[in-house]
Amino acid sequence: MKLKSYVAGKWVEGTGDGRPFIDPTTGEELGRVDATGVDGAAALEHARTVGGPALAALSFAERGAILRAIADALTANRDAYGEIARKNSGNTVRDAAIDIDGGIATLKVYARLGQSLGDAKVLVEPGEDVLARSGNFAARHFWTSRKGAALQINAFNFPSWGLWEKVAVALLAGSPSVAKPASATAWLSRQMVADVIAAGAVPEGALQIVCGGGKDLVAALQPMDSLAFTGSAATGEMLRSDPAVLRAAPRVTVEADSINATVLGPDAGPDSDVFALAVREVVSALSVKAGQLCTNIRRVLVPAEHADAFRDAVAAKLAGLTVGNPADESVRVGPLVDLDQRQTALEGIAALSAEATVVAGGGIPDQVVGADPQAGAFLAPTLLSCADPTDGRAVHEIEVFGPCATVMPYHGVDQAVALAAHGGGSLALSLFTGDRAVQRDVALGVAPFHGRVMMVDPEVGKDHTGHGIVMPQCVHGGPGRAGGGEELGGLRGLRLHMQRTAVQGAPAALAALADDATEATL
Ligand code: NAP
Repeated sequence: MKLKSYVAGKWVEGTGDGRPFIDPTTGEELGRVDATGVDGAAALEHARTVGGPALAALSFAERGAILRAIADALTANRDAYGEIARKNSGNTVRDAAIDIDGGIATLKVYARLGQSLGDAKVLVEPGEDVLARSGNFAARHFWTSRKGAALQINAFNFPSWGLWEKVAVALLAGSPSVAKPASATAWLSRQMVADVIAAGAVPEGALQIVCGGGKDLVAALQPMDSLAFTGSAATGEMLRSDPAVLRAAPRVTVEADSINATVLGPDAGPDSDVFALAVREVVSALSVKAGQLCTNIRRVLVPAEHADAFRDAVAAKLAGLTVGNPADESVRVGPLVDLDQRQTALEGIAALSAEATVVAGGGIPDQVVGADPQAGAFLAPTLLSCADPTDGRAVHEIEVFGPCATVMPYHGVDQAVALAAHGGGSLALSLFTGDRAVQRDVALGVAPFHGRVMMVDPEVGKDHTGHGIVMPQCVHGGPGRAGGGEELGGLRGLRLHMQRTAVQGAPAALAALADDATEATL
């Protein structure tokens, strides 16, 4: 099987040998990804000239209805996706649900937002600024859809959610998408797009996919286009400084990796409910999707007096996790996406070991359920303990993209905030405390370094949505190391694809323009 690309209304196959993608449970090749000879520039031009005008002719509510139709087409084919996710991503049923159902749920949220914006095609911010003493001259801020293509380059770990969270926002804003999934797991993205196209759910040109390649797409970007990238910090840096990107200056947003932290409050002793909730969350971070979430907990900041108890509690739970073939119902931790990723993770653990001690796992498991631990990309859930995190660098800088986290003690809440900031900017931080003063000092203390902060106290209990889970209502992205981007966040996500313009004029003229717009704050 060679994955085709959907460009300018046709499915086309690359003419080269391509790159293999595998079943990470066995190492067996499943197919190839290749975009040799696939015209990326033509895809972007088709988006601009065919998809863009088609979407521009529709209201927000009509675009919302398209998102609903996409979600319905995907739901109708849901079973096949679980199978692909197991075979190609090594996903357990639960892992696959986070990716697949997370994507469908995000589409539905944006479908409802489209409905709420009604029949307008333009948004206007509430309020008017009077610019003349006479009151006869004023300004209002309008949002209109940009006239470019939305190039979306995605990471391997969320072939469904990563695709649809970007398409949903772009389509609602009126921007046609050209999606480029990561080669390792492009199969699921390609299959989903094929089903959506076959269902006739989207106007021609509003959704295209290029499997493989990527450089020619970036080279063909124009000023009104946008580039939304999700992946490693290194690739993000390369794309941001690409000559074509610098020259054309499209809008760029980067979602990169980060060394996210969770903080246990000083009040949360080993017998407290909050302590148990934090242990549960860390164990989840070391098992769900085999730890391959960009938002995942990498550093666990624990009051020094509870550090040993916390480390031992997590290690005890890890010992009970079953690693192996995701087809086996008892398995909680599947393989990493491929052997290269495992090798990189092993090298990362070795680098962390210079500053921290391995408490659990640390390498390839001796045995796994239903598979060969060497031939498959298995990595044991790994917990490290770093006695002196103030001196450590690797523990704050190296992302082991797998089931791996490091426990580190802190002395006083101010130090916990300072250590969290050592990550240089992160996507998410979670805080487990029942103390309101600690909530205030930590949540607002770390906020400048984070895109999202999740506070868990006894009142929230188990009702929270999870440290690693990105909710479409909340902004996703983080400053600095995390890429400096921002996606989702309900209507806030539309900013990437729309232009805010201050329109000045007589108040009556502004009111007439605003008559055709829906009032909204992005
Ligand atoms: P990656 O190696 O950086 O690749 C990301 C994407 O960039 C892939 O689609 C890749 O295509 C593409 N790419 C690479 N070089 C390119 C070029 N010169 N021109 C155009 N496209 C190019 O990242 P990954 O290994 O797939 O994903 C894992 C990383 O992503 C982790 O570090 C994780 O933390 C991060 N991540 C971040 C988020 C977030 O929202 N912040 C979410 C998920 C993952 P090919 O696969 O075809 O090479």
